[in-house]
Amino acid sequence: MPDALAGLYQQVILDHSRARTGEGPLPDAAAEHFERNPTCGDEITVRIRLASGSDRIEALAWEGDGCSISMASASVLTDLATGRTLAEMGEVTETFRAMMRSKGQGEPDEEVLGDAVVFQGVSKFVMRVKCAMLSWVALEACSTKIAARA
Ligand code: ZN
Repeated sequence: MPDALAGLYQQVILDHSRARTGEGPLPDAAAEHFERNPTCGDEITVRIRLASGSDRIEALAWEGDGCSISMASASVLTDLATGRTLAEMGEVTETFRAMMRSKGQGEPDEEVLGDAVVFQGVSKFVMRVKCAMLSWVALEACSTKIAARA
């Protein structure tokens, strides 16, 4: 990755870690899940509300505390997940996970990942991959809880 692009990506991560889209409580949540990353100390609770009679995510909100990567990733996830179905987010999550396991190699699919491509640089740092994945894993757990009820 060229340095200029890496710098831009770092800026997007910093912006999201400050803006924290989706941070706060969520009434009428269909599911919630708490996830912790002990290696870094990040903690997050992700909650989702579904549109009535469907598996479309009407709202995602989260509360947590942690490093800028974990907080920025939750913020980006909020933007991506809102309005998508659980099944669609399952596919986006698999694409994100593949990128985070790439160790900085490969071409991430920006069509699918949107702003989440900025975390590609993080995939080079094995210790930080869990930071970026934390909120995504929590959303997956929410999805699993809802599926178990159906
Ligand atoms: Zn972290």
